[in-house]
Amino acid sequence: MRLKKEKGIIVAFDMEDTEFALELARDLRGARGNFVIKVGRPLEMQAGIGILAQIKDASGLPIIYDGKIADIPYISQRIASSAYDAGADAVILHGFVGSDVIKAVKALGKGDVIAVVEMTHPGSDEFIQPAAERIAMMLARTGLEGVVLPATKPERVKNLARIVQRENAYIYIIAPGIKTQGASPGDAIVNGADYEVVGRAIYNAEEPKLAAETIYSEVMDRLDDVE
Ligand code: C5P
Repeated sequence: MRLKKEKGIIVAFDMEDTEFALELARDLRGARGNFVIKVGRPLEMQAGIGILAQIKDASGLPIIYDGKIADIPYISQRIASSAYDAGADAVILHGFVGSDVIKAVKALGKGDVIAVVEMTHPGSDEFIQPAAERIAMMLARTGLEGVVLPATKPERVKNLARIVQRENAYIYIIAPGIKTQGASPGDAIVNGADYEVVGRAIYNAEEPKLAAETIYSEVMDRLDDVE
């Protein structure tokens, strides 16, 4: 299942409780909105990589494996290959590792490749941000499907999205940092992102499905306002 370049919410599954993860996956199947699920290392380390197929079956949604892979091409390729074989529709790598890593994973031909341009946390300003424009340009030329930009820095989303899409208009942009890290729903999407990533504000909510639906409709309302 390829991810489409359209507006939606990526729910970050970073919880450690497998039962809860499967329950939320089942709930999202019928949720109002356009959702994708991203499985992070905290859940994978508890449940094993087999959790990808279980979540996919339970939710019927596209699954991203967020291993933030950042190794030499040979090892990155093996990690990504295992994730695709386990049911991932897309994998996330770090962009700063360079084009050979991205191309090696792309060459597997097993699913979407997504790479991080710039991160949401303050430490990202130390080394990644000064190189982000060049990372964005390099990534857009590798033939990958998606990039990650920081919703906590809407101006950066706007500038970097422009760089990426000038090279390749089909690349989708995903942006984490909503609510718990400070950005408001819609901040990234009104600046050119396609999906906003939301983790704790959904899985730590009293009613996670309702929280997901509410955030989705808040984002859509913001989009209606600017259009
Ligand atoms: O809980 P919260 O909504 O802050 O989760 C954000 C998610 O986005 C986490 O899964 C984190 O790994 C991911 N992410 C991020 N910043 C990036 C790339 C990914 O916060 N630049």
